[in-house]
Amino acid sequence: MAYTNSPLVSYTKISPNRTKNRNHAIDTVTIHCVVGQTSVQTLGDVFYPSSRQASSNYGVGYDGKIGMYVEEKDRSWCSSSASNDHRAVTIEVASDTTHPYAVNAKAYAALLDLVTDICKRNGIKKLVWSTDKNKRINHLNGCNITVHRDYANKSCPGDYLYNRLGEIASEVNKRLGTGAADFNNSINSAEFLVKVIDNNLNIRNGAGTSYAVVGQIKDHGTYTIVETKGMVGQAGSWGKLKSGKGWISLNYYYVQRITSQATSSVIKGDLNGDGKVTAADARIALQIAAGLQKPTAEQLKAGDIDGDGKIGANDARAILRMAAGLKK
Ligand SMILES: [Zn+2]
Repeated sequence: MAYTNSPLVSYTKISPNRTKNRNHAIDTVTIHCVVGQTSVQTLGDVFYPSSRQASSNYGVGYDGKIGMYVEEKDRSWCSSSASNDHRAVTIEVASDTTHPYAVNAKAYAALLDLVTDICKRNGIKKLVWSTDKNKRINHLNGCNITVHRDYANKSCPGDYLYNRLGEIASEVNKRLGTGAADFNNSINSAEFLVKVIDNNLNIRNGAGTSYAVVGQIKDHGTYTIVETKGMVGQAGSWGKLKSGKGWISLNYYYVQRITSQATSSVIKGDLNGDGKVTAADARIALQIAAGLQKPTAEQLKAGDIDGDGKIGANDARAILRMAAGLKK
């Protein structure tokens, strides 16, 4: 197959740090974190000196722009494994400089677009992620996503991206039209923390509302999830409690994923800062939406449920639903 490059690229600066003509067809994607909220230009400058001895095929900037440093026909020097980089398209994504090396929403969205494009152009019909290193590096069960930490003593791609590789695969597969069944039905292993923001969240003995309620969480506590079903945060997503008590909804109406200390301090929907989401919070949201009150930075963080950068009528409605504990 003739190699092509992504039409999504808006900046190109070819690095000398590459091996001409890869020796293996592209069948793998390796996503890295930059450890810096950099632009595609900065990344181009980083990879440009030959003394750097490093590159990637693509980079995603903090602003969602996509850069190219090594054409897909050539092997990048990216993952501390020649054999991996001969078969993989490597992508560096702008990230925070500290654990969990979070990626912002613009870069994440651009990454999904880029990975989808790479799969389409290279005939990768389905992305398969595994949390088992052996399956990844040996490409068992169709596994075709690898990570830098498999080949070097590094945290790359950082826990933020590592913990989302299952979601990334699901979303890309949905776009490729091959993942619908997977997306809805497959169980992904994962381990992360959620803070329950709902006042009375059902625990069920399976991943769905058709399963019996076997308990309730009322303490707004932090819980460890060990398996997920569906797209975390969306309606219809479920998480298995590490305690073994059962499954809870992972809809963002009811739980907040804890990714770092900074984000865990704000409870989504809690506008008056009393640690729970009630009708009082919905009232404040309505006042803000109507322009009768100006939100503080904390309130904006807590009250912008749909992520559009402001607190609108949509957000007020969402908070009211959270307070009422509907649909779980
Ligand atoms: Zn890396």
